[in-house]
Amino acid sequence: MPDTKKVTVTCQFCLTRNRVQVEKIDAGPRCAECKKPILLDRPIKVTDDDFRQVISGSDVPVMVDFHADWCGPCKIMAPVLDEFAQAHEGEVLVAKLDTDRNAKTAQELGIRGIPTLIVFRDGEESARQTGAVPREKLEALLNG
Ligand SMILES: [Zn+2]
Repeated sequence: MPDTKKVTVTCQFCLTRNRVQVEKIDAGPRCAECKKPILLDRPIKVTDDDFRQVISGSDVPVMVDFHADWCGPCKIMAPVLDEFAQAHEGEVLVAKLDTDRNAKTAQELGIRGIPTLIVFRDGEESARQTGAVPREKLEALLNG
């Protein structure tokens, strides 16, 4: 029997929160409100507003990249994360949080250096890494 793992994601177009079944990603989920596609093969953007809801509303692990525009190592990390998100579509929700625009969440989690990557399972932090890392390290972080 297929299980029904779901994630909560905010539509990047109209900001409506959607519950999406990860097994049905191949069918191309769409936003319930604006009908635009919800793409989970790339990192999704999270903010102070939806951060808690996204990490606690996910039946799969969520890997969050805490980054900022001015941060060089974050730029190195970006394509690695894109690749990782694509490879793990449906198994891991990859999210990015801009620490300049969402200082509240970054502060609550005690983010001191960026990029910082945190893996959340059932809403709880399970692994953390600060500094840019290669793809293999992301896999280890997920499984660690
Ligand atoms: Zn929408």
